[in-house]
Amino acid sequence: MPDLFDLGKQPPLGEVPARMHAYVVRQSRFGAPENAWKREIIPTPALGPDEVLVYVMASGINYNNVWAALGTPVDVIAERQKMGEPEDFHAGGSDCSGIVWAVGRDVKTVAVGDEVIVHSGWWRPDDPWVLSGKDPMLAESTRIWGYQTNYGSYCQFARAQAHQCMPKPKRLTWEEAGCFLLCASTAYRMLMGWAPHVVEPGDVVLVWGAAGGLGSLALEITQACGGRSIAVVSDESKRKFCLEHGAAGVINRNEFTHWGPMPDTRNGKAYGEWARGARAFGKAIWDALGERTNPRIVFEHPGEATLPTSEFVCATGGMIVICAGTTGYNVTLDLRYHWMRQKRFQGSHLSNDEQALAVTKLVDEGRVDPCLSRTYGFDDIPACHQLMLDNKHPHGNMAVLVNAERPSLGASR
Ligand code: NAP
Repeated sequence: MPDLFDLGKQPPLGEVPARMHAYVVRQSRFGAPENAWKREIIPTPALGPDEVLVYVMASGINYNNVWAALGTPVDVIAERQKMGEPEDFHAGGSDCSGIVWAVGRDVKTVAVGDEVIVHSGWWRPDDPWVLSGKDPMLAESTRIWGYQTNYGSYCQFARAQAHQCMPKPKRLTWEEAGCFLLCASTAYRMLMGWAPHVVEPGDVVLVWGAAGGLGSLALEITQACGGRSIAVVSDESKRKFCLEHGAAGVINRNEFTHWGPMPDTRNGKAYGEWARGARAFGKAIWDALGERTNPRIVFEHPGEATLPTSEFVCATGGMIVICAGTTGYNVTLDLRYHWMRQKRFQGSHLSNDEQALAVTKLVDEGRVDPCLSRTYGFDDIPACHQLMLDNKHPHGNMAVLVNAERPSLGASR
């Protein structure tokens, strides 16, 4: 067996080296992503019966590996060690395009040589919930691949479960194909996975962080489903991007100041000031839309800073769907609006295979753009995460080339 291959020099199909290049976080480096992520040479992992090894061509950059670098809110290395895994490092990365290079003995759905993209829903194949045929994203064993599991897409060879592999959309380059699926599948489940609150033609959807990874895909999916999105951003330079990706209107959140947890409802002055801000934001939605219609779905992820406003502006009978608390986890909302107007507050996390496949199909058909922002080199992985933490990353989804020799390769139609 060869010991190590250079990055970008494609070895003979199926030849697996003993060691590989990877970007890795260690507990001693937890902190600023630009210092936490370092390039190392680590052993290439062995495969379980249901697993595949993917020769990674390009990877997306996601916020979860900002959290992994910081070591908060969870230390992913310690969590895995508690479950019996021996590694004292985190080789992350949750988005990938590449070529199946080896398969475990029970794998039947993909074969060596298949070009794939990998979604990041991971669960134990023997989990009783999974075996019962119910939504595996609700199983106790479910984890996010490349964040809560090791050997993700910042490795020369990534280890995944076979069911995570989706056919790579042929029309896309490696970097376009590798950059979008985590955010797209998450956004798809949020917008299409919680019936009856799924996007229907004409529905208004409020999208926070609309020029970000999740938000840009939410704009695209809403448009593909016939909805009308109102994009929220913090900078006028993002307005054009949002309109180009399907937004019906754009709001700059810097024109408002009422952010953060809601004040005590018994403090008339503070509550009154907050309510004025929330009402003005609601009016801004109507102005951006050109009609007095409230959003049937509010696409949330900032959390603490924005949730009170999301609750306030959501339409009667509508849904606030949330997948993160980037600005904090202390949830406040005015319950009176919640019960009197019969709103729904729905948590959502990543996606199952069917949802990942459905959104991949929309991308394959050209109905949803992967929103690739910029393509970086393998050694830019630390800097990309730092840009993300500092909210200075380019609009949409960043990609890094792993084994792809240069940008623009891999498209075949
Ligand atoms: P991103 O590309 O950084 O986008 C986040 C956006 O949030 C930014 O573009 C920013 O836009 C906006 N934002 C920042 N501070 C804000 C504030 N105080 N108030 C309102 N908006 C604010 O990140 P992402 O990839 O979209 O991910 C967003 C979050 O979702 C992260 O915490 C990530 O870990 C999480 N996530 C969860 C799942 C899941 O399955 N649970 C999946 C994907 C991502 P403006 O400054 O322009 O407003």
